Amino acid sequence: MSTTQTNKIEIIKAATSKINEVDFENLSFGSIFTDHLFECDFKNGEWQKPVIKPYAPFLLDPSSRVFHYGQAIFEGMKAYKDEDDAIWLFRPDENYKRFNKSAVRMAMQEVPEDIFMNGLKELLKLDEAWIKRGKGNSMYIRPFMIATGTGVIANPSDNYKFMIILSPVSAYYAGEVKVLIAEHYSRAANGGIGAAKAAGNYAAQFYPTSLANKQGFQQVIWTDDATHTKLEEAGTMNVFFRINDTLFTAPVSERILDGVTRKTLIDLAKSEGINVDVRPVLVSELVEASKNGTLKEIFGAGTAAVVSPISGFSYQDVYHELPNNEDSMALKLKDKLTNIQNKIAEDTFGWTV
Ligand code: PMP
Repeated sequence: MSTTQTNKIEIIKAATSKINEVDFENLSFGSIFTDHLFECDFKNGEWQKPVIKPYAPFLLDPSSRVFHYGQAIFEGMKAYKDEDDAIWLFRPDENYKRFNKSAVRMAMQEVPEDIFMNGLKELLKLDEAWIKRGKGNSMYIRPFMIATGTGVIANPSDNYKFMIILSPVSAYYAGEVKVLIAEHYSRAANGGIGAAKAAGNYAAQFYPTSLANKQGFQQVIWTDDATHTKLEEAGTMNVFFRINDTLFTAPVSERILDGVTRKTLIDLAKSEGINVDVRPVLVSELVEASKNGTLKEIFGAGTAAVVSPISGFSYQDVYHELPNNEDSMALKLKDKLTNIQNKIAEDTFGWTV
């Protein structure tokens, strides 16, 4: 191991790299991690010296608040490499802002911008050999923060650990995605934490999603908790509905995550001359549009899969199959967006950094 200092970050390099053990042709999403991680602790009322060090397990006190009261938040973003081996991030400021929005909602410490951004950039530079060029290839970035203060006392922690880990990924094909529209369970409630990227939001979905899986559905589309009549979002994706040639998506709210892919696709679709209507979409409208043949497409939008076409949905035990589209808007938008992200097409929007 060798130690250096860059922009006030201490860098402890791994003695050897694991990169030659990785089969980059067969990456399973989010399961392989690079040689290093970034870490910065908040204690004694201030952020400590940040460090980049070899990726490894670490010790925590069993009474750490994260284990008992669930103060844990994260982000999901990607980095790409162009033909000249330059590294690009896609709208990283959006993820940074959302991270601190989640921190505030979970009564956690906000992370200063220089720690988040410089830490990320230095980590990517150090592990840059792990970022592969080419369409669909990227580095999935997982910044996260946990409460490390000790004591089984139901109060916010005074200490936190902020970390960034990196996982190389290739184009993500979810396979056929059939969805179940939620009629009983809810992902989020008014006044709750739905708009935060809080770990507990995902834990809460696992059980109802496993019930849907048993019935043959890969995902649940969540509806509003009060009436279960409005379509909200999927597990880790916002959702778009194409009725005739208009794209509909729910407005973001305190129940819905403000997805970066969602807002990007809205702008991209508009620039392509597609009519986009951001308004609450009713389950009854969807069922009606399916019956009268005007429902053309449903797709999810999120960092991991970018765009994920949905082949059908079930509501009140009736399965509605979606038509096969020659001119799929989902695939067209996915192609446009991944070309911008992978620096294959010019980024006229200024999204790549
Ligand atoms: N909704 C939820 C609940 C999510 O976890 C995600 C993934 N971050 C999204 C939507 C999509 O957000 P983004 O496009 O920023 O990845």
